[in-house]
Amino acid sequence: MTLDTCTPDAKQLLDINAALASICQTTACINTSETVKLSEALGRIVSAEILAPLDLPIARNSAMDGYAFRSADVIAGEPTTLKLVGTSWAGQPFVGAVNAGECVRIFTGAVLPPETDSVAIQEEVAASAQQVQLPAQIEVHKNVREIGEDLRQGQRLLSQGKCLNAADLGLLAASGIQQLPVYRRLHIGFSSTGDELIPVGQPLAPGQIYDSNRYMLQALLQNPAYQVTDLGIIPDNPEQLRNTLLPAAQQLDVIISTGGVSVGAADHVKDILTEIGSMHFWKLAIKPGKPLAFGKIQDCVFFGLPGNPAAVLTTYQQIVSPALQHLSGSQPAKPLRLAMRCTQAIKKSPGRQEFIRGLLLQDAEGELQVAPIGMRGSHIMSSSSLANCYIVLAADSSGVQQNDMVWVEPFSNRL
Ligand code: AMP
Ligand code: MG
Repeated sequence: MTLDTCTPDAKQLLDINAALASICQTTACINTSETVKLSEALGRIVSAEILAPLDLPIARNSAMDGYAFRSADVIAGEPTTLKLVGTSWAGQPFVGAVNAGECVRIFTGAVLPPETDSVAIQEEVAASAQQVQLPAQIEVHKNVREIGEDLRQGQRLLSQGKCLNAADLGLLAASGIQQLPVYRRLHIGFSSTGDELIPVGQPLAPGQIYDSNRYMLQALLQNPAYQVTDLGIIPDNPEQLRNTLLPAAQQLDVIISTGGVSVGAADHVKDILTEIGSMHFWKLAIKPGKPLAFGKIQDCVFFGLPGNPAAVLTTYQQIVSPALQHLSGSQPAKPLRLAMRCTQAIKKSPGRQEFIRGLLLQDAEGELQVAPIGMRGSHIMSSSSLANCYIVLAADSSGVQQNDMVWVEPFSNRL
């Protein structure tokens, strides 16, 4: 059974945007929420719009240490002498009236007495214990933070779907919000497939290799919005694939497996997915990145990634990561791409969009430049380890010359 959207011809190469659009069309995001305390909210996805319960700032206050005065007391171009009648501290406002010809000592964050509207910075006045002299060039209505200038009560504080960052938590705290509704965490299972794979910590027999994809996926999936389950290594055996994937799908929102999606005799993932669920099978027009099987097993979304580790990294970053953002209730972020000079020529034949592992550097003048790093094969992990960005070459590109401008996608969200 295939999914009921237009399935592209398997021979046709599909670009990333088309693949992502198809994923977003055929899957729904989480629709259950829970309440979390502010201290546990980092990285969670807001499930309902939050309105500002307070004006921010809540009171008119001083932006500087100085003296609060009334602008009406100042005659333009003349120095002004004012009587000092008290102090307004942060947390301890001045009580009493500030009459014409008077001022108060004030500190940053302290509430302005209601009669005052301006603050003179302490460095620009001559002050004694009883009086303050403002210079002739004093400016009025300065150094004052107005009520609600950051956010007005009732305005949108956070949108539904916002992934909470540190600044958001600060903003929520400033507004006195102690807890808030977020989508429940996306439950994701991940597995490797392959008879040759051995977990680290065991000796290798001839023909065996260590399973690297599962450890890499576990790292990629470390995210407060996800709850992950390691489904282990599944042998290249249809029965074992079926017996692992089917019960797992009943517990999970998403399964990501690697390997076994090509055309070899030991590649059973597509057949099992078709048997127990529904499948899109794509040849993505990207490199590295081989065939990718996407589908559903009951309500569980399934991603069958290639086996080669560098292709796993690229397909995760380019396809799975934005898809998981969509599924967990947030908007997939468009990758940031920067244009810069490439310090070396790169060979490429037209056909697929290529993600070349690169090292983004700043030269002595501060100008950004990029160099390809290491070998390019999809089994080459050392290049991925050294890289801090992708040099993104368009499908129709036939390579670049030294010092050509290229698009660079810095790695984000990756340790
Ligand atoms: P496959 O798509 O299963 O044919 O795998 C393609 C290549 O990736 C083969 O060389 C596999 O040995 C290798 N491979 C598959 N899974 C893993 C894994 N979990 N860790 C390291 N290499 C893998
Ligand atoms: Mg395999």
